[in-house]
Amino acid sequence: MNFDISIVQLGQLKRQINFGMLQQWKSKIFKINSVSEILQIPNSENSINWQYLSDDLVRSYIKCDSNAKITIAITEYSLEDNFYMRKVDSGLTIISLFQVGDILRYSDIPVENFILRNIYKIVTLTYVYLDLPNTSDEIPDIIHEETRSCLFDISGIKTDIVYSSSKPSLCPQCEANLRQRQLPKGFMNDLISEIKKIRKPLFCRISDFIKCHPVWAIIIGIATQLCIGLAAGLFANYLYYLIKG
Ligand SMILES: [Zn+2]
Repeated sequence: MNFDISIVQLGQLKRQINFGMLQQWKSKIFKINSVSEILQIPNSENSINWQYLSDDLVRSYIKCDSNAKITIAITEYSLEDNFYMRKVDSGLTIISLFQVGDILRYSDIPVENFILRNIYKIVTLTYVYLDLPNTSDEIPDIIHEETRSCLFDISGIKTDIVYSSSKPSLCPQCEANLRQRQLPKGFMNDLISEIKKIRKPLFCRISDFIKCHPVWAIIIGIATQLCIGLAAGLFANYLYYLIKG
C-alpha cells in the first residue's frame, strides 16, 4: 500500500504537536511524507466577524501537495458546524483542535493519538468510497451516532472523542461492514493491528487504573511492598550466611 500524506499546520497551535513522532509512525497503510506550516492566517481574512474557518477559506489557504494522495491541514480554529474534521475538497481534509485539544489534555490523551485516529479514519474512508463526498455534501453511511470507541464514531458531542482517541478500535458492525468492501490485500489486518498501538503513555494508563480500581491499586501496592520486604530479608540472610562462611 502506498498512501502518501502531507500535513500542513494552519495558523498557530496552542499546544506542541510531535510531528516527528507522526512521521516516524510505523504503518503499512500510510506514510506522512512532509510537514509544512502557514504560521499566520492573513489579517485581511481574520476579521472580527470571522467565527469559523469555512470550507471555502480552507480551500483558499491550502495548496495540496501533488506528491501526496491527501493533504491534511491541522488548525486551532473552529470549523463549519463545529466539526473536528472535514473533508473540504478532493484530497484535502482539515482537522480542528478547537475544544478537542483541551478535552484531550484534561483526559491525558496525547493530541497525536487523536490525529492518528483521524488519519486512519480518512484513509479507510478514501479506500471504501471511490469518490468520497465532501463533508458539506454527505456524511459517509459507515459513520454512526452511537459512541463505541470506534474509528467511525461521529462524536457529535466533542467530549465523546475521548473514547475513540484513548483506545481506538473497530466496532463489530464496522468491522463486518469493512470486510464486505473491496480493500487492498491485508488492509483489514494491518488496520486492526495498527490502531491497537494507539495508546496513552504507560504512566497515564497506570494513573487511569488507580482511578478506576482504587481498592485493587491498594492491594497490589501492599502485596508489592510485602514481596520486596520478603526478598530483602531473604537476601540479607543469604549475605549473612555467606559472610559467616
Ligand atoms: Zn463502528
